[in-house]
Amino acid sequence: MFLRVLLRVGALVGLVISAEAAAKRPNILFIMTDDHAAHAISAYGSTVNTTPNMDRLAAQGLRLGRCYAVNSICTPSRATILTGQYSHKNGVPVFNHLDPASVTVAHRLQQAGYYTAMLGKWHLGSEPQGFDHWNILPGQGRYIDPVLYDRDGHRIYKGYATEVITDLAIDLLKNRPKDKPFFLMCHHKAPHREWTPNDRYRREFAGRTIPEPSTLRDDHVGRADALREQRQSVFRDLTRHDLKLVPPAGLTVAERQRWVGEVPVEVEIVVDGRKKVLRGDELDRWKYQRYMQDYLACVQSVDDSVGRLMDWLDANGLREDTLVIYTSDQGFFLGDHGLYDKRFMYEPSSRMPFLARWPGHIQPGAVSDALAINCDFAPTFLDLAGVPLPAGMQGRSLAPLFAGGTPVGWREEIYYRYYHDPGHHNTAAHYGIRTGTHKLIHYWKQDQWELYDLVADPDEMRNIYSSPAAQTLVAGLKARLKQLQRDLGDTGQHTVGPLPKDDVDIRVKQMDRKHPDSQL
Ligand code: CA
Repeated sequence: MFLRVLLRVGALVGLVISAEAAAKRPNILFIMTDDHAAHAISAYGSTVNTTPNMDRLAAQGLRLGRCYAVNSICTPSRATILTGQYSHKNGVPVFNHLDPASVTVAHRLQQAGYYTAMLGKWHLGSEPQGFDHWNILPGQGRYIDPVLYDRDGHRIYKGYATEVITDLAIDLLKNRPKDKPFFLMCHHKAPHREWTPNDRYRREFAGRTIPEPSTLRDDHVGRADALREQRQSVFRDLTRHDLKLVPPAGLTVAERQRWVGEVPVEVEIVVDGRKKVLRGDELDRWKYQRYMQDYLACVQSVDDSVGRLMDWLDANGLREDTLVIYTSDQGFFLGDHGLYDKRFMYEPSSRMPFLARWPGHIQPGAVSDALAINCDFAPTFLDLAGVPLPAGMQGRSLAPLFAGGTPVGWREEIYYRYYHDPGHHNTAAHYGIRTGTHKLIHYWKQDQWELYDLVADPDEMRNIYSSPAAQTLVAGLKARLKQLQRDLGDTGQHTVGPLPKDDVDIRVKQMDRKHPDSQL
């Protein structure tokens, strides 16, 4: 209770938290996945799956309902988490490298006496800096028999990536130096495309019928052109590779590559021993099922991993001393608006799951709908480690949210910007502002705007930007948006760090070509 009061007060007098927290200096286990949407976690009200271990984490700790990536794409979100900065400041707006000279939260925790380690998906091109130990997947990595790199080179780890990375995390925790608190970033590849489950969950989910989201057949009427012109449609863009269709026998390697890369307009399946050809709406429904069955099967292994890690901490006397966080680098469209992938500022894509447990410091079952962003993670870690917030970090410590609710004086709006245009999935560049009740988006190349009332229209189906009744609101939000850009130093002239060239990603891509998975 004392700490809870202290945290409330701490929202007004920031230093109090740091002084209190510095004395505790928790271990930090940061578990992050790739592309796991909050609405595929039952603690977030999922209608499509059940995640008992993530639910346990939520029940024992805090669930943030409104935590957002400020640029909803893998590499930039990772750079933001490490630097506490927006993409226009940290030099990673797209798939470029994090400058190895960047000072990250890992450096600062290391300097403060933490043992720092990074395992699994890194995806920032350059070698990790500021970590006492690292062992990373190159690039996207692969699901089966992954290759991992460390300072001494690389090797293949037999098995399923989610389980391999969990094993490595437990080994690292067992063998860590015991005289220091630890900061472990445990980053899974799953459930990133191409959504390859392990055998157990592949079989288990193959027979399931997943409920369709209400917006699956969104016709995008009344919205910006960007929604119609994107190439991340479940019905129009999933390839045979995504759908795990098996190529006919006798194709050459080139023919096979072409075949799996195409979008099927009809698919032959076997039902009750009989062949059946699916087309049109029947095929669309089947595509959604195939996509979601594999995606959710991958999530299930992640949920097991979270359970194993929590169990290990609990069994080894580290429960009370360890802040455990579960998050994902961004959200994902689970057929919402007819889409898969991310990038857009819409809720399913930009919202991140964020669960945190620290017994005695985080209220069990706490829920906060305060607006949080991935820039806040690094300041939170530094706050809890008693390290002063460095100039240049653009987030704030989330510690005042540990008691649940929204503290007095908390931020009332967040800024978002997506850059990768031209880029994958033909997603138009845009920026915008989200408040507690509204979202204003500007597709600036087309000069098209969208405004959503998130209270009346949480699914973001009705663009009210041109509504006469909304014009005062529009003017107010545009002024706040401009002010946010000024405050955050986004002049539109962002820097871009080095682009991939001869690096660890390239070397392993060459190795990947020899791997049996790469044939698909
Ligand atoms: Ca991602």
